[in-house]
Amino acid sequence: MMFSPVHRFRDIERKPEYLHPEKCIPPPRPGSLGTMWFIRDGCGIACAVITWLLVIYADFVVLFVMLIPSRNYIYSAVNGVVFNSLAFLALASHFRAMLTDPGAVPKGNATKEFIESLQLKPGQVVYKCPKCCSIKPDRAHHCSVCKRCIRKMDHHCPWVNNCVGENNQKYFVLFTMYIALISLHALIMVGFHFLYCFEEDWTECSSFAPPTTVILLILLCFEALLFLIFTSVMFGTQVHSICTDETGIEQLKKEERRWAKKTKWMNMKAVFGHPFSIAWLSPFATPDQGKADPYQYVV
Ligand SMILES: [Zn+2]
Ligand SMILES: [Zn+2]
Repeated sequence: MMFSPVHRFRDIERKPEYLHPEKCIPPPRPGSLGTMWFIRDGCGIACAVITWLLVIYADFVVLFVMLIPSRNYIYSAVNGVVFNSLAFLALASHFRAMLTDPGAVPKGNATKEFIESLQLKPGQVVYKCPKCCSIKPDRAHHCSVCKRCIRKMDHHCPWVNNCVGENNQKYFVLFTMYIALISLHALIMVGFHFLYCFEEDWTECSSFAPPTTVILLILLCFEALLFLIFTSVMFGTQVHSICTDETGIEQLKKEERRWAKKTKWMNMKAVFGHPFSIAWLSPFATPDQGKADPYQYVV
């Protein structure tokens, strides 16, 4: 990793002398470090709000069109608890994915002192991002929406209004998984409800008028089918890229592999935490990750 041949085409400057730290704005004062991570991007915020509204709509139809009017109380109670628990976990994962720093590289750290502190040997190379004036760790990429370099950036997702990177990939994967599960659950319930309404009287099976009931159910059906396909494909892609330890960007750019190959299980643990436990499924459990490697900047 440290002495690989240098034939790469990134925004690089090969020797520390060519870095121009004097052009960089100074790094932010330590006081601003504790502030919450939130991307102020209008499109991303709109998409995130649409996501919550879609979940709220699904929950409304499930509860008020299907479960509450039903006379089978056990069926209603069990499905109501399962659906609402999964929906709660989906929204919690969404919030964690949105509000967790995905692994931003400190802005403006390309200072003379910092480069000297790396104690580069002759032939060693560091990468500098010209846009945020930072020394890039290996596998970091610049995101133009976040305006930062993000460690192991996979992609910028407007639905969670954040980059998916080293520190929040777990929450993003859980978000896609729980959305896929509530979509599947909603589809199954809509199927049962239609059967129930055909057998019973249409005026009996919902507290809404029959045309309203049908429209609400069909809209839910479309929503659930669309998001079941979308999120399960995303979930599969994410798990695959975690197992092969290759981010979406690296697959796209067909970057040559410079990092050590690990087993699938070790790669999963690196994202979801050590050791394997029920905490893998919890958006509230922060996985133990990435102790800062002093050589991460040196290629
Ligand atoms: Zn950058
Ligand atoms: Zn981003």
